[in-house]
Amino acid sequence: MESRCIICGLEKKGLKVKEDHVIYVIRWFKRNVSRNEKGYDLVVCRDCYKKYSSARSSYNRKLFAYLGIGILATVLWIAVGGIKLYSIAAGIVLIAFMYLLSLLSYIPGLDVKKPALEKGANARSDRSHRRE
Ligand SMILES: [Zn+2]
Repeated sequence: MESRCIICGLEKKGLKVKEDHVIYVIRWFKRNVSRNEKGYDLVVCRDCYKKYSSARSSYNRKLFAYLGIGILATVLWIAVGGIKLYSIAAGIVLIAFMYLLSLLSYIPGLDVKKPALEKGANARSDRSHRRE
């Protein structure tokens, strides 16, 4: 199977992207709804790794912020209106909505074991400045 980088979109070899529930849903959608699944292996190529890891951490921050807002609003609703079915249901809907909103900038994880990933990242930071 050919592999394609999720950052630059080129056909390249690289670190494999983890096939999580989001990728699964996208693949399912492409196969059953838009019928244009190309069947590529999704990877992050060596050149894009740095870009990928900053995009991934900004996605993670965004996800936590969105979920935080959703949970906070739910807690406030319950605090103000008391524990009612309506406020709990509205909270669940809001949290689900915030989660979907975060998926607009979804960056999947990598299917690599942690030590291998860190080794790769360290090897690369020898050549460039280390910021974090
Ligand atoms: Zn790339």
